[in-house]
Amino acid sequence: MTALRADLLKKELGIFTFKDLLEHYPFRHLDKTKLDKIAGLSAANEYAQVAGKITEINILGEKRTRRLVVTLEDETGEIELVWFQGINWVQKAIFKGQQYLVFGRLGFFMGKPQIAHPEIETFTPQKADGKNFLEPVYPTTEKLKVKGLNGRVLGKLTAALLQLVTEKDLPENLPEPLIKQYKFISHFSACRQIHFPATDRHYQHAVRRLKFEELFFAQLRMGLIRSSRHRHSKGLLFDQVGDLFNTFYNNYLPFELTAAQKRVLKEIRKDAGSGKQMNRLLQGDVGSGKTIVALMLMLIAADNGFQAVLMAPTEILAQQHFNSITSVLKDMPVCVKMLTGSSKAKERKEVLKLCEDGSLHILIGTHAVIEDNVLFKNLGFAVIDEQHKFGVAQRAQLWKKNTIPPHVLVMTATPIPRTLALTAYGDLDYSVIDELPPGRQPVLTLQRSESTRPQVMDFVKEEIGKGRQAYIVYPLIEESSKVDYENLQKGYEEVKSFFPEPKYWISMVHGKQDAAQKETNMQRFVKGDTQIMVSTTVIEVGVNVPNASVMVIESAEKFGLSQLHQLRGRVGRGAEKSFCILLTGPKISNDARERLKIMTATNDGFKIAEKDLEIRGPGDIEGTRQSGLLNFKLANIVHDKLMLEAARAAAENILDTDPDMNEEVNVPVKIHLQQQKGKTAWSKIS
Ligand code: ADP
Ligand code: MG
Repeated sequence: MTALRADLLKKELGIFTFKDLLEHYPFRHLDKTKLDKIAGLSAANEYAQVAGKITEINILGEKRTRRLVVTLEDETGEIELVWFQGINWVQKAIFKGQQYLVFGRLGFFMGKPQIAHPEIETFTPQKADGKNFLEPVYPTTEKLKVKGLNGRVLGKLTAALLQLVTEKDLPENLPEPLIKQYKFISHFSACRQIHFPATDRHYQHAVRRLKFEELFFAQLRMGLIRSSRHRHSKGLLFDQVGDLFNTFYNNYLPFELTAAQKRVLKEIRKDAGSGKQMNRLLQGDVGSGKTIVALMLMLIAADNGFQAVLMAPTEILAQQHFNSITSVLKDMPVCVKMLTGSSKAKERKEVLKLCEDGSLHILIGTHAVIEDNVLFKNLGFAVIDEQHKFGVAQRAQLWKKNTIPPHVLVMTATPIPRTLALTAYGDLDYSVIDELPPGRQPVLTLQRSESTRPQVMDFVKEEIGKGRQAYIVYPLIEESSKVDYENLQKGYEEVKSFFPEPKYWISMVHGKQDAAQKETNMQRFVKGDTQIMVSTTVIEVGVNVPNASVMVIESAEKFGLSQLHQLRGRVGRGAEKSFCILLTGPKISNDARERLKIMTATNDGFKIAEKDLEIRGPGDIEGTRQSGLLNFKLANIVHDKLMLEAARAAAENILDTDPDMNEEVNVPVKIHLQQQKGKTAWSKIS
């Protein structure tokens, strides 16, 4: 292959090695025996494959409209082929009067069928011997096509490569029993059949096998990180349940824990008492009561002589955690302090001193708590609330806070479907609070048109009349967008006209306010001095005002599903019946309509998360770090759930029984993993 082409393959498709080329899978196969008749093409055909003779080749237009227009006819009619790029190259490669096979996305121009930038090659009719003849078609790019590296040329390269490789180059990589159990074809034949299958059934078998491999090795790699942490990491030992925990549990715990809270507490205590470092993800829907679990664990840390931090994504949330935690601990000898970006210098100095000399037990704050100048005498436990606002780097910063890294508990209220959790967080241990505290009533969610705003406001008035409070939330598309703030201001004025002072008082909170101002406005609402909170999504996470029973979301069609669910979670936290009203504008996209439908249908965060995953695909889900982990070539965690579970189970089985993979049956797996680490024998494409 020429250096130029090799270079293009690298740049355009990331194909560096022969292995990359083999793993550049066709996105479909062409059955050359199946041709469309031109006269029979209609708008119902998304793609067309036709064969015929070129009757005309013309260059039309000037400069930017310059295009190559070719007419191809079969015995039933004519179709137009158009190129806007690579005109010279195509022109040299095709000839009037010759037969060609053409494939591409079908369009109609002035009622005539047309294909822009089709795939084209000389046509040699296949013998109709009753057998399928499946030719692979590969993803390619316009740039490659222009240089003659179209999907079919890639196919030829792959075919040539497959001529050279033997079973030795592509050895079996799954344990024999697994292959038997799932009736997989061999790795070697899968690699061949996915490109050049004899029949569609062969192709399906190859895809099934290779998908499983992708999922299995991903699970195994993450599982190895997890299990090696379990086996080799050194962790701080929390082996005592002491006075602080017991006193709190017996005297100050304001309610009975739910069964799920108790179970999770046990899981985590076991982990932290094992002498290994814990890295755990705690999931629980909004309002499921994660905070109290975190607090009790921080008390265990203190009982064992360690300090703890609780890190929240916003000042408002940090403040609220601080208030509620200091209030339940007020009669206990526990030193709790707060540190945020807006802590005053004097206060900050004081807090830093207490951290360093060890007299502080619990530090609550924003990311200010992990800055380099915050030194702990003996940090043992770190809780990160509402995980998705923190990056992996920030978590790593935490680890450096003690010579032996502290136990880390990551809490998230953005429910993540199990499949996604297994894939994106497979290296973390995983606990779920899957139960809400008793007595909660589901929030009744309704969608209403903006034109009914007066009636909606009347309803809000009624609720306020019963002594309740209400949120009115405006979308904030971009943190800095001027328009958004103008809308918010307008909205505020409008709300004011419905709810005039002094009968009603309104708080407003948004991201442009400084922390003190935000805090004052928030506190007025928390204390009940104001009945209405007008805000942007800054109140999205965590904020807890049980007396608030109505949430109105303006332009609800502009919000994502998980955001709507988070927002709605602000109401329905008390004993009162709560309402969430989604006000929508006149234009609603299909996706938005789908989102609104789900919101009005269910309160279950996990169901919503599953739907979100379906609508948006895994790459976009908030809270997925390193999305590279989700970049499978064949597998799709939405559609291949069952296979993911099977792959997970198979990987777990190896990790449980033979984690070093020394047993004969597991050796192929081990070799494959080692090769994937870059020690491959595959030569580079040059
Ligand atoms: P989240 O999991 O969304 O962070 P919180 O920890 O803020 O939820 O808890 C929500 C509310 O439920 C708080 O007011 C908390 O005091 C209360 N709560 C937590 N656990 C229980 C329980 N077992 N019984 C009753 N109320 C509870
Ligand atoms: Mg919370």
